[in-house]
Amino acid sequence: MTDSKPATAAPGTLAATAAPGTNPVAASPAGARTAADVVTPEVVARLVRGLVGSGRTANHSPFTGGKLADLPESTPEDVASAFERARAAQPGWAGLPVRQRAAVLLRFHDLVLERQAEVLDLIQLETGKARLHAHEEVQAVAVVARHYGLKAPAYLRPKRHLGAVPVLTKATELRQPRGVVGQISPWNYPFELSVGDALPGLVAGNALVMKPDTETALTALWGRDLLIEAGLPAEVFQVVLGEGPVVGPEIVAHADYVSFTGSTRTGREVARGAADRLVGVTLELGGKNAMLVLADADVEKAAEGAVRACFSSAGQLCVSIERLYVHESVADAFTERFVARTKAMRLGNSLAYGAEMGSLAGERQLEAVTRHVEEAVEKGATVLAGGVARPDIGPLFYEPTILEGVEAPMAVCAEETFGPVVSLYRFGSEDEAIDLANALPYGLNASVWTTDAARGHRVAARLRSGTVNINEGYASAYGSVRAPMGGMKDSGLGRRHGSEGILKFTEAQTVAHQRLLPMAPSMGLDDERYAALMSRSLRVMKILRLR
Ligand code: NAD
Repeated sequence: MTDSKPATAAPGTLAATAAPGTNPVAASPAGARTAADVVTPEVVARLVRGLVGSGRTANHSPFTGGKLADLPESTPEDVASAFERARAAQPGWAGLPVRQRAAVLLRFHDLVLERQAEVLDLIQLETGKARLHAHEEVQAVAVVARHYGLKAPAYLRPKRHLGAVPVLTKATELRQPRGVVGQISPWNYPFELSVGDALPGLVAGNALVMKPDTETALTALWGRDLLIEAGLPAEVFQVVLGEGPVVGPEIVAHADYVSFTGSTRTGREVARGAADRLVGVTLELGGKNAMLVLADADVEKAAEGAVRACFSSAGQLCVSIERLYVHESVADAFTERFVARTKAMRLGNSLAYGAEMGSLAGERQLEAVTRHVEEAVEKGATVLAGGVARPDIGPLFYEPTILEGVEAPMAVCAEETFGPVVSLYRFGSEDEAIDLANALPYGLNASVWTTDAARGHRVAARLRSGTVNINEGYASAYGSVRAPMGGMKDSGLGRRHGSEGILKFTEAQTVAHQRLLPMAPSMGLDDERYAALMSRSLRVMKILRLR
């Protein structure tokens, strides 16, 4: 296995500074399925049924680089036509009682769990991730389907409010669907960030035109197919495929609301497009997430948690940890454990459980990871684990990597790598750690490790980060689906999950019904006596604490 690493290297280059150990390869079970067993022509024909696309494109598996499927590609005219079809189907769907729409999500929930093996294979084939990490997506989609399947009727119920004149004015807030939501999704969590994120908008009565990333389109299409099996009218959920800079702006140009997940750079473009049309937008963007290991942390548990937090889905996770700040009093003990665990991680490419990390998803990711690590090493950083590609396992495999001695001018210090690379830093005081964690323009996720719960909450409240996990890397906050999830600062706008995650897909409409008396002088009152009466009433309303 060491063959894959450069045998000789000049002093100061990556190979010379990389740790000599290589990660072991997970055994592939005999008779394991291959891409040809999973992505059959029949499966592809079933999944692309109804797609609006007059061109041709294809997607590929990171495990081998080989083609997975030929797929229809949409032109701008095709996107317009998909919106027309969705728009025509939307009123019928919105006209169903909300409980009926919610029942589709609950059936979908059961189908996802029953048929998970199919989607786990697709997720693995399209992203290259380990099966355990693919299962995170199954869990996340099931959680969202259950939550909105059970809670949507309560979230969307008409709400009575105190009227302008108590008793005489009856005010009701209705939640109207926006119409057709345009959704643009990335490749890294292709089930959860496509179909999972679509569920609240659908149950709120919207139709949908989705643009998943072409390289992970089969997973999104599988989810759409299963939703249709669960009872969603097919025309309500349209999918279009194609190049982001071509198809993406067309989505923004037609949608009544835009739901975007991807990089901060593209998010800004999407926001500009939505602003021009005065339509709402949610932006779930990038991060450079920090983990703080405080002086009183359990270092064993923190090291184990850091492995998951940094290397799940090979670090191609928006909430992944890329900056690790450790108190100087526990830094040696933590580092020793973290490095040992990281070097022992099993890498693998089979459609079975067993590997602790899979492949990177694309050439672009491998290039970014290699560039960040090589530049850091050239400028003086040290590789404590990993730091090398593993073409012996697959063309896009890269070892889980720990860097030390990273400093400001290195790109890896402040830019999102979106790969299995974490930088270790030491700190002396809690204030210093908080300042370092807050120093970047991102604010998506953070993690704090301590044995003192009160201290953990105190530190969390001072972090400018949309989610903070105490004694966990990212899964506790992400999985707490009743609570909002999203980014502060350059990491986004708006939230998924909870009430915010569904109400954003609706327009609030206030219907006020005036009874018995008008909101004006009446019953012989002249203007002056009416004004005096209203002033007295306002004082009384405050005394009675009518809110
Ligand atoms: P990306 O911005 O390159 O692409 C995201 C999507 O936008 C893709 O479907 C792409 O085809 C499309 N797109 C590209 N150009 C477009 C344009 N001009 N107009 C409209 N759409 C366009 O991001 P990516 O590399 O696919 O995904 C990785 C990024 O996503 C990382 O920065 C990661 O942190 C972020 N992310 C964020 C979250 C979150 O919840 N905050 C979740 C997952 C990923």
